[in-house]
Amino acid sequence: MTSAFPAHADVVVIGGGIIGCSTAYHLARDHKANVVVLEQNKITSGSTWHAAGLVGQLRSSASITQVLKYSVELYKNLEKETGLQTGWKMTGCLRLATNQDRWTEYQRLATTAQSFGMEMHLLSPSEVKKMFPLLETNDLVGASFLPTDGQASPSDITQSLAKGARMHGAKFYEGARVIGFDIVDGFVTSVKTTLGNISCGRVVNCAGMWARQIGAMAGVNVPLQPVKHQYVITETLNGLARDAPTIRDPDLRTYFKEEVGGLVFGGYEPNPKSWVLDDVPESFEFQLFDDDFDHFEQHMSNALLRIPALEDTGIKKMINGPESFTPDGNFILGAAPELKNFYVGAGFNAFGIASGGGAGWVLADWVMKGEAPTDLWSVDIRRFSALHKDRAWVNERTLEAYGKHYTVGFPHEEYLSGRPRIVSPLYPMLKAKGACFGSKLGWERPNWFAPEGVDPIDHYSMGRQNWFDHVGAEHRAVRETAGLFDQSSFAKFEMKGPDAEATLNFICANKIPSEAGRLVYTQLLNTRGGIECDLTVARLAVDHFYIVTGTGFRTHDFHWIVDHIPSKMNVKLIDVTEDYGTLSLMGPLSRAILQKTTRNDISSAGFKFGDAKMIDVSGHLVRALRVTYVGELGYELHVPIAGLGDVYEALMQIGEPLGLKLAGYRAIESLRLEKGYRAWGADITPNDSPLEAGLGWAVKLKSSVDFIGRTALEAKRVKPLTKMLVGFTTEREDVVLVGRETILRDGKFAGYLTSGGYGYSVRKPIGYGYVRNLGDVTDNYVTTGKYELVVAQERVKAIPHLKPIYDPTNEKIKV
Ligand SMILES: Cc1cc2nc3c(=O)[nH]c(=O)nc-3n(C[C@H](O)[C@H](O)[C@H](O)COP(=O)(O)OP(=O)(O)OC[C@H]3O[C@@H](n4cnc5c(N)ncnc54)[C@H](O)[C@@H]3O)c2cc1C
Repeated sequence: MTSAFPAHADVVVIGGGIIGCSTAYHLARDHKANVVVLEQNKITSGSTWHAAGLVGQLRSSASITQVLKYSVELYKNLEKETGLQTGWKMTGCLRLATNQDRWTEYQRLATTAQSFGMEMHLLSPSEVKKMFPLLETNDLVGASFLPTDGQASPSDITQSLAKGARMHGAKFYEGARVIGFDIVDGFVTSVKTTLGNISCGRVVNCAGMWARQIGAMAGVNVPLQPVKHQYVITETLNGLARDAPTIRDPDLRTYFKEEVGGLVFGGYEPNPKSWVLDDVPESFEFQLFDDDFDHFEQHMSNALLRIPALEDTGIKKMINGPESFTPDGNFILGAAPELKNFYVGAGFNAFGIASGGGAGWVLADWVMKGEAPTDLWSVDIRRFSALHKDRAWVNERTLEAYGKHYTVGFPHEEYLSGRPRIVSPLYPMLKAKGACFGSKLGWERPNWFAPEGVDPIDHYSMGRQNWFDHVGAEHRAVRETAGLFDQSSFAKFEMKGPDAEATLNFICANKIPSEAGRLVYTQLLNTRGGIECDLTVARLAVDHFYIVTGTGFRTHDFHWIVDHIPSKMNVKLIDVTEDYGTLSLMGPLSRAILQKTTRNDISSAGFKFGDAKMIDVSGHLVRALRVTYVGELGYELHVPIAGLGDVYEALMQIGEPLGLKLAGYRAIESLRLEKGYRAWGADITPNDSPLEAGLGWAVKLKSSVDFIGRTALEAKRVKPLTKMLVGFTTEREDVVLVGRETILRDGKFAGYLTSGGYGYSVRKPIGYGYVRNLGDVTDNYVTTGKYELVVAQERVKAIPHLKPIYDPTNEKIKV
């Protein structure tokens, strides 16, 4: 340990667990940063030392899978650099399936693995038996096997990373407890510790389950909850091979790994126990909870069913330790929205050992460059909102997520806990009309409407689900008459100030309207030319703009904009989400219906596509935007919240006799897939440029205006495209596309679907995905290939589309 406590560091990392050590290692190795690591007790003494050490890699996000693959490469090779072993053993991982839904899940998982460049095999019960003879396999449908997964020693990896970090110049201080921060103008200027204060350029909070309270010291919300997690270590088990694969047996909620001739096994119970709702004690060092055999019994009896030989094997030790879990089961990474130089890497949901190497790698890059190096949206701290400051809510949702860790992952599944939480004023009315709600960032949103006599409840399955036909009816109403959507959960911001136009032109890739009363659809790009946000900007006045974005992107998009306002610009950004409810009236009859509620001219000439006007609807002054995400004539009506009920009633009263139907988010998804509208986070991400996504038309490259991402796009524009977003329909009508299906061009891997669903107008499954080729991906390259999609391991013929799959030809949308 280094003795004299330093006065300054470029980067202060808080926490000497695997995440802090990995982040410090990468900061020092890759960025030559002057790094100090502060650990209140001893390195590894938090959650890291008692982890079981299973290392799995496959996730539903390509980037996170990449992060975990990196961990494995690092653990394989670290010893060569540091001389300290990591205990890495590539045993492979078997996942067992005992029912058809689970088997379908694995067929899809194996396809995802193929899409992400990983090998995964599906095995018969007899092949499983050969690989792990001690397993009871009579009840198995089969198993998946991922040969490159394995196990490692958590403490050894961490010590090896710490040594590597020191070799590259990082300094570690044990017994240095962080007790506060000095904050000036939104920047942390120094970290206060029990050994003294240290001034700093940036801070990285890797304090494990303490990260919430460390965050709170700086006003940063880190929504995680410590939960008790148990496993046991057995005596030597006769017949157990030292290189036996790790086992995950989700239907019995258990996992196993070999350890010095015995087994380590534990599980994810449906009734987990959280630990403190208050602060975690500082003195919790190399500590465990008392053994809780009563609670563990469910895992014990399931383990005996799977490995009967355990009956005669003694238990050497029980580990009952705390680990931080999060409300959606993903970890928490990145730049805290509340401060300008405060980063977080915490909440690892019992896969911190598997993630540690890769998470430290990407976090270090994020810290040094101020921008995530790849699409890390699923783990980004900005996916949370003010809702996540409610500890009781976070606890409740986190326990549900923990309990679902091993349940079958059905498409479209919704969480049930902590609901309803945030509701639109229309909630009771929509409920009375049969709405089946989903939840997004706490908001209840109608997914679909159950007709008379049908329960508004989702019945999940791997095939078509019970709502399929009802969503079809909503879809058809939007195409043939009109549909009304309550989209009040949209995030809404206002930018005001004399420099607002110049600021938005710098932040947005598209040209900001030069006259009031017009709107524009635009992407916000990062410096690599990747798409960080996808939203609408309406100009209400010379110095007043209204910005509308997706419900889930509220925190992310707000702070992306705020962070990129040039320092000399005189503007203010305000979040007005709760001030306005949004009703989207969409479909060929939308104009006729709306006209009957307003005295304003909304004729084709009087209210053009892209107009943003104040109109009077049923006596309320409404911000009406002529825009659509469903490919029909339509209006987004942003109504002062107190008038939302009136406007809804007026529209329904006039519209229902004409065929207006209430519709939900599942209909929106189907409609937008047909029209080819891109969804941020799926089809367009920070890894995709507008040129690749077919959105080059929405970028002002022809103008001379500078904007973020311009330089990168100009460089990309003169080079051949290596990928292009393409729509697909399948020849077979019955396949269920959910995303991540592999795209084959002329029988060879060409990419994977980023979105999947069904188009009720074209009566076909629809998917979108990037067709990739290291050469040049041109329209001709796309259309001259013969395509198949691999759907749950089955090849299905597909037709590529470079134009909208369904394009309504009515005059109103063409205007
Ligand atoms: C029983 C159990 C089994 C597990 N099995 C697996 C597994 O098989 N595979 C897997 O991938 N993961 C597993 N995990 C999860 C894994 O242990 C964690 O995800 C990982 O250790 C988290 O590392 P960390 O660095 O975030 O946190 P920690 O290891 O807890 O490190 C945080 C550090 O911050 C320090 N700190 C806190 N407050 C302060 C302060 N004020 N000032 C200075 N320092 C401070 C703490 O002392 C601590 O050392 C398991 C967890 C448990 C509980």
